[in-house]
Amino acid sequence: MNNENKTISDFDLNMVCEYYSNVERQGPGSPEMTLRALSFIDNLTEKSKIADIGCGTGGQTMVLGQNTPCQITGVDFFPDFVRLFNQNAQSRNLQDRVKGIVGDMANLPFQEEEFDLIWSEGAIYNIGFERGLNEWRKFLKPGGIIAVTEMSWFTEERPAEIRKFMQQVEPGIDTIPVKVAQMQRAGYIPLATFILPENCWTEHFFAPQATVQEAFLKKHAGNRAAEEFIAGERRHKALYDKYKAYHGYAFYIGKKMQGMTEW
Ligand code: SAH
Repeated sequence: MNNENKTISDFDLNMVCEYYSNVERQGPGSPEMTLRALSFIDNLTEKSKIADIGCGTGGQTMVLGQNTPCQITGVDFFPDFVRLFNQNAQSRNLQDRVKGIVGDMANLPFQEEEFDLIWSEGAIYNIGFERGLNEWRKFLKPGGIIAVTEMSWFTEERPAEIRKFMQQVEPGIDTIPVKVAQMQRAGYIPLATFILPENCWTEHFFAPQATVQEAFLKKHAGNRAAEEFIAGERRHKALYDKYKAYHGYAFYIGKKMQGMTEW
């Protein structure tokens, strides 16, 4: 889901929610890339706890549930997403270990040092990459891991059209070395970074939306806000296609630094 909705001031959030409820993912990514990120993380057991922040309907959370033995809590702002998340967990028989709750990533209902792993795909930008890394750090055990995806520039320079668009929808966007430095400054040792391949956008994010868009426009025929919303989503796709050499999502994986008390 992108922030472009902000330009549609009277747009009903319920419609955004309805639209994205009909697709498996609300952000770019893929099961393969969730697993690649997971491959950097060792020592997860039945006792380990994972938080998936901005989990949406749980596309990536179910992959975590099926590929780790851990206790997983998904948190999202939208109750409808959380309802679908819990249905998804149930239909995969993961409901005893994978639970979705409604909550705000800026005010999480967690204990300090509760989690071994914090996950967040396509969501941290909602409060900002640096703010999220800083504020969520306390919920990790010492040596705990954070794995997030974030929109990033691939090059030092880029065409004005995409630069301006990103300023509106993802003002926190920066280059990969800058993001890695932000992660280090927020108190994590950077462990791994990789760019999500194109199919995380085309096949897993945009393609499923194409069919949903037609049905959505039919259902909300004549509704200007709905039409503008879909036009915005289509513009986002067109700009991705045109400028994918310059920007995209990257995974950032870091390990909570220990305090320096031994000094
Ligand atoms: N991780 C999912 C969803 C990404 S879309 C995926 O990759 O498919 C971003 C998600 O962040 C949405 O589900 C949105 O509802 C959620 N979100 C936005 N602001 C939030 C907030 N303040 N607290 C919790 N969740 C939030």
